[in-house]
Amino acid sequence: MNQSARTKKALFLDRDGIFTHLVNHPEGLGAPRNWKQVRFFDEMQNLSRIKSHGYLLILATNQPDIERGWIEQSFADELNDYLSKHYGLDGIYMCTFSDEDHPMKKPNPGMFFKAAEDFLISLSASFHLGDTWKDVSAAQKAGVKPVLWSREYNQDVSCPMKICNLKELEAIL
Ligand SMILES: [Mg+2]
Repeated sequence: MNQSARTKKALFLDRDGIFTHLVNHPEGLGAPRNWKQVRFFDEMQNLSRIKSHGYLLILATNQPDIERGWIEQSFADELNDYLSKHYGLDGIYMCTFSDEDHPMKKPNPGMFFKAAEDFLISLSASFHLGDTWKDVSAAQKAGVKPVLWSREYNQDVSCPMKICNLKELEAIL
């Protein structure tokens, strides 16, 4: 692939902790496992404003609970489809594997590389909005600029850019 052909820029978006609230499971904070557990962050209703800055909106989500048997793939697909339609997402990448070394599973950068190929994205012109160290690390390995949405549970995560609302994100883009 000729790198110079990659001219589009993207805002890569994590799912849980960005679009949806984390759920307090016996195993710890994690993804919703059914529709009853889904609660959306109101703030994300303003996401369409980001499109006007010329960014593709691309979901990049780890869903290892699918391989663990805690989440049905059909539910994860339905939720992703809902997000895609409701928020006007351009692409969806989901890693269903629980092996921490899987190249597609954040903190590894595989999903970003695949999206860059599929959409001709310049990774260095792109951002990733996430809520954990794995999001930050995966983005940095891909050459994507990481942005951490500051939450109660991630105050110990270091990231060059942290935001508390979408207005602060718009100021960075
Ligand atoms: Mg998350």
